[in-house]
Amino acid sequence: MVMPVMQYAPETCSWCEGTGKYSTYNDLCLVCNGQGSVLVAQPARKCPHCEGKGTAVSGEFTDRCKVCNGSGWSHVFKTK
Ligand SMILES: [Zn+2]
Ligand SMILES: [Zn+2]
Repeated sequence: MVMPVMQYAPETCSWCEGTGKYSTYNDLCLVCNGQGSVLVAQPARKCPHCEGKGTAVSGEFTDRCKVCNGSGWSHVFKTK
């Protein structure tokens, strides 16, 4: 049995739109750690829950999508 090797490629972080900054505080983006991109399993697929926006509206607040953690992508490689 050969395990299929998952391929990852950097895709633009939806939460900071590739800037690496957390918009409200001008701090490092906590989704991509300031990288501006996240490693996504290929072929890259947008998060079906937020349609790739990385945001989810809960009540009157806009929060990070709970499914993709704000990255906007499915199957993001987790370093931690
Ligand atoms: Zn980011
Ligand atoms: Zn999402």
